[in-house]
Amino acid sequence: MVDQEKVQQAVRLLLEGIGEDPERDGLIDTPERVARMYAELVCGMDQDPSTHLSRTFEIDSNDMVVERGITFYSLCEHHLLPFYGTVTIGYIPCGRVAGLSKLARTVEVFARRLQLQERLTSQIADALMKELGCAGVIVHIEAEHMCMTMRGVQKPGTVTITCACRGAFEDDPSLERRFFQMLGRA
Ligand SMILES: [Zn+2]
Repeated sequence: MVDQEKVQQAVRLLLEGIGEDPERDGLIDTPERVARMYAELVCGMDQDPSTHLSRTFEIDSNDMVVERGITFYSLCEHHLLPFYGTVTIGYIPCGRVAGLSKLARTVEVFARRLQLQERLTSQIADALMKELGCAGVIVHIEAEHMCMTMRGVQKPGTVTITCACRGAFEDDPSLERRFFQMLGRA
């Protein structure tokens, strides 16, 4: 849970620290606004992916399921700046599938907290393996990091790509090829 009072104090200090006047008209409500905003941006910290993935549906075939282009917004834990992009998930069910919206909800659980793209990728993959009991999972993320584009090296348009394979996707490289074929990228 976010301590609203503490975040407000910190934002006031931050404003003073950068040479601003926290009492001036435009900034007077900023600490409160930012504290409310942070509660929203890190709400995934209090959530458990099993809430979304515990309800599954029986299926007959265990063909690969791919959900492409799940949009996400997260915060880089090194700079507290946003990184955002899309997640594509492929999995091989083992008799049961999750509701499609539940994959997007699972992404939110791990995106709505201070993160690294690499960890976000593997946490989503591990949660799907564990909660769905599926035979294999692949998670592919493409994201732009504001800490790369608006500061530091300032390279707009740079896209960071991460990929995590679990289970059957680790054992059988043809599955990964098929996943990228389904995305039209092979
Ligand atoms: Zn960063």
